[in-house]
Amino acid sequence: MEQFHIEMPNHFSLPRRINRLGQLAYNLWWVWNPEAQTLFGLINKPLWNRLNHNPIAFLYKVDRAHLNAVTNDRYYLEFYDRVMAKFDAYLKAEDTWFNTRYPRLSDKKIAYFSFEFGLHESLPVYAGGLGILAGDHLKEASDLGLPLTAVGFVYNQGYFSQRITEDGWQETRNAVLNFSEMPILPVYDSEGKPLSISVELPGRDVHARIWTIQVGRLNLYLLDTNVEQNSPIDQQLTARLYSNDPEVRISQEILLGMGGVRALRRLGIEPSVWHMNEGHSAFLTIERIRELVQQGISFEQAAETVRKGNIFTTHTPVPAGNDQFPLWLVDKFFANTWPQLNLTRDQFINLGRQAQSWGEAFVMPVLALKLSDAANAVSELHGQVSRRMWQWMWPDRPESEVPITHITNGVHTGTWLARRMRLLFERYLGPDWWERFDDPALWDRIEEIPDAELWALRGHLKRKLVNYANERARDAWLSGSVHPVQVVAGGVLLEPYSLTIGFARRFATYKRGSLILRDYDRLLRLITNPDRPVQIIFAGKAHPADEPGKLLIQQVYRAVKDSRAGGRLVFLEDYDMNMARFLVQGVDVWMNTPRRPNEASGTSGMKAALNGALNFSVMDGWWREGYNGANGWAIGEDRDYPDPGQQDEADAVSLFDRLENEIIPLYYQRSADGLPNEWVARIKESIRTLAPQFSTRRMVKEYVNNLYAAAAERVEGKGKQQER
Ligand SMILES: *Cc1c(COP(=O)(O)O)cnc(C)c1O
Repeated sequence: MEQFHIEMPNHFSLPRRINRLGQLAYNLWWVWNPEAQTLFGLINKPLWNRLNHNPIAFLYKVDRAHLNAVTNDRYYLEFYDRVMAKFDAYLKAEDTWFNTRYPRLSDKKIAYFSFEFGLHESLPVYAGGLGILAGDHLKEASDLGLPLTAVGFVYNQGYFSQRITEDGWQETRNAVLNFSEMPILPVYDSEGKPLSISVELPGRDVHARIWTIQVGRLNLYLLDTNVEQNSPIDQQLTARLYSNDPEVRISQEILLGMGGVRALRRLGIEPSVWHMNEGHSAFLTIERIRELVQQGISFEQAAETVRKGNIFTTHTPVPAGNDQFPLWLVDKFFANTWPQLNLTRDQFINLGRQAQSWGEAFVMPVLALKLSDAANAVSELHGQVSRRMWQWMWPDRPESEVPITHITNGVHTGTWLARRMRLLFERYLGPDWWERFDDPALWDRIEEIPDAELWALRGHLKRKLVNYANERARDAWLSGSVHPVQVVAGGVLLEPYSLTIGFARRFATYKRGSLILRDYDRLLRLITNPDRPVQIIFAGKAHPADEPGKLLIQQVYRAVKDSRAGGRLVFLEDYDMNMARFLVQGVDVWMNTPRRPNEASGTSGMKAALNGALNFSVMDGWWREGYNGANGWAIGEDRDYPDPGQQDEADAVSLFDRLENEIIPLYYQRSADGLPNEWVARIKESIRTLAPQFSTRRMVKEYVNNLYAAAAERVEGKGKQQER
């Protein structure tokens, strides 16, 4: 086993009595433990907010006077001791769900590979849904005690930040991230040199050093090519996410898949189970086969062996969305690899070959499916779509027997639940609610929360959202670089009394961000009705190369600027996890309008439901499973359309009818006590039915029970056969 060590920086000059804050700052456990956040916030709240809730930057910058003040505060110190004791107990616990349920598998390591991880806004190395899901998966795996290790990239320029010009055009900016202010730790070898690996790319070796992030009980290892041995161009290889240049993309994927396996070997980690979150990491199958073939095993036998431990999760419901490379590129990058696998060029290409409209391609999900014994989609409908899409790979099987199951996504409850909502649940669901919150029976107790109390809390969360938008608009105005109309567009006229709808997600055409603008006059009439006004808050980024996506933003922005909308349409710039928390916690209704069946699952609506917002969504992805007729509203019907134009029209009509005839009247219908009791009843029904089901608690348990445990058993079974 390779010797390695992780060095904890010891650079904060903290008073001795509270110096473990440094340790806390370097473990993301604090992200889903509000008490730990309070521990930082209590020292200097304005600074904590200004620094985007980044405890490392905070501990660097907070002045001695503030630190001394809390060191002399008996209540702070008692609180500090309590939080630290909880942190220690968490890290040391041996009676975790996994250890209790699968004692025999507790030493069977699981490797989890993903192109991006969304863990917190101070680590802007995620683009959207896929990354947030991966981040939530890690946090839950930690909570449940899984022996899991994750592998990804640290993008040193992060994902871009977004600014909208007065004309509604998206501008992007990539800042160079300052690692010394992020909870990223360097990993060193036994000689004290940065631990690194290399992969062969055409004509050279590319090196990557290894960093780590501590996510509760587990580690995420991140590859970074920004090292001296590399050429300046290769140093940039891991600078940004989702390049559109296919050569950069294939290089990144070789590094993640093949380099990731090498990194785990260097770290002395020997996984039994290898989970590929989407096809980007599928080259890990090639590297593992190469290792075995180099030991003298035939390709077929090696493939048979590695397949047992491999699990592939697909997230893409449209063929064109799949990660793929032209064959000339595969020739260029893999000509030296296929001899090492004892394969001919054609045999190698066959591992990923699929005919496309423009010719043949090497398709990453094909490779992943061929070399995994287990595969899953991320919702029930997405499972059906995936089996249809990949049926050609199993020509002798009917569609229903294509071996792709589904595990519907979830969200990490601790990360997305508002602090006050958590306190409310603690009070009414019982002190053990946190241990049992994936048990639907627990949530029947939601009826015991008095309507007035729940409604008051909803009001508080909405005021926080409005205040957040106001302050951002004020900052923009103060910067002196925006036109006055952009201050209105940025939410300065928002108020906390009207029905407030949120629409925040990536601006890709299939998400139909402008569906609600289809009947613009009717929209204006609805939102500006003085008796029953409505506000709609939009947010989201378009991929920098996605021109249609940017045009959609522009279309929305023009409506937002329209004086006839009276400032009741708003676009918040630069959507990130922080803004997502304000939005999913603060709005009354969470709207989602994907063109079915393109939304594999979606997760933001789950975050909203958890906090008492009501979903109003197309019957696609998770909502098709979550909606029960009484816990929110559907847009359109549970059916497919042959013609997208007809689908858009039908969905728009449904959207406006439901909004005008059901949602708005229900929100404004008040009882004698001034409360919207019918609305609150719906909130309770939504939380009761959705909170236990659409959490990563349920999801990660399903991954273990349905996929990981079986894979570990298969791998072990193989070992036994060999012994015999
Ligand atoms: C949850 C989340 C997403 C995913 O949202 P969906 O559109 O529901 O898939 C994307 N971005 C951020 C910042 C999120 O918090």
